[in-house]
Amino acid sequence: MNAHNAATDTIIDPFGRAVSYLRVSVTDRCDFRCVYCMSEDMAFLPKKDLLTLEELDRLCSIFIDKGVKKLRITGGEPLVRRDIMTLFRSLSKKLGNGLEELTLTTNGSQLERYAQELADCGVKRINVSLDTLDPVKFRAITRWGDLDRVLNGIEAAQKAGLSIKINAVALKGVNDGEINSIVRWSHDEGMDITFIEVMPMGDIEPDRYDQYWPLTEVKQHLAEAFTMADINHQTGGPARYVRAQETGGRIGFITPLTHNFCESCNRVRLTCTGMLYMCLGQDDSADLRAPLRASSSNDLVSRAIDNAILRKPKGHDFIIDRVGTRPAVQRHMSVTGG
Ligand code: SAM
Ligand code: SF4
Repeated sequence: MNAHNAATDTIIDPFGRAVSYLRVSVTDRCDFRCVYCMSEDMAFLPKKDLLTLEELDRLCSIFIDKGVKKLRITGGEPLVRRDIMTLFRSLSKKLGNGLEELTLTTNGSQLERYAQELADCGVKRINVSLDTLDPVKFRAITRWGDLDRVLNGIEAAQKAGLSIKINAVALKGVNDGEINSIVRWSHDEGMDITFIEVMPMGDIEPDRYDQYWPLTEVKQHLAEAFTMADINHQTGGPARYVRAQETGGRIGFITPLTHNFCESCNRVRLTCTGMLYMCLGQDDSADLRAPLRASSSNDLVSRAIDNAILRKPKGHDFIIDRVGTRPAVQRHMSVTGG
């Protein structure tokens, strides 16, 4: 069996899903230490194991040749990787040349510096993660972050013409009192907002059960303030959207725990050391760095990708049902990006 369908130039997994979306974590390092993402004293991947930006570019090109249409650069915090704009610049040359969209997920801390360059590279839409508008809570959630800096970054991105979606992780007892105001603020600023359920990835200090606020409950809460109608808005991601009548804006829900959408999963994830993860919630991975470095021809990597896609599992088994729930996978979200 071959995952690559030469007739359609797509890679198809054993469940018939075409893989058209690659997320690339360009670093596992970050200038924040969000309490749901990282432990306070994180051990990071050794720098010597990192792919160079040229190698990342080469890998991305191979994926594009194999039918990937959308690239999301993520991390860790992608904008803290040194010279990251070199990668954006080289990837931007592939836009319209197989690649349809180049995008980014960021914590916003470096956006003031990079927003215009991103726009110049053909980036049109970005996701900015922001869980609270309260500066004290923001510092408590991110441990190291400064809310004003992120808000300035958002302003710079808007000035540069980037369309922004806010991503907020729903956190029980933390941002549950300000969900409605975060929605109103996002929509007033002309931004969509998506809520995300916390996923049990990696060891962290707080108990996942204490953090986990199912989006079924978030929706009930939102329904007290907003009239929400389902809409068929597709971004290529797992979010399902509604429109809030009162604001006219969109609210998305990413519900890996209460309702997974694995049956329509179109993505795989590459780490900064060249490991390919076929599912966010499973441990299986394939090393693409060795075949990449073994030859200047792309054949070995191409074959390694095909073999990996044939192992793409049906879905994940995330569950948070009690105090002391163990992580579904040992790695933190920052290794593979969100
Ligand atoms: N640093 C960037 C940022 O924060 O946007 C990009 C990487 S971050 C890992 C990507 C997304 O994953 C963020 O929206 C973050 O809130 C989310 N995230 C991190 N850990 C998570 C977890 N355990 N469960 C759910 N979402 C998580
Ligand atoms: Fe950093 Fe993003 Fe993880 Fe927060 S969620 S610690 S900003 S990688």
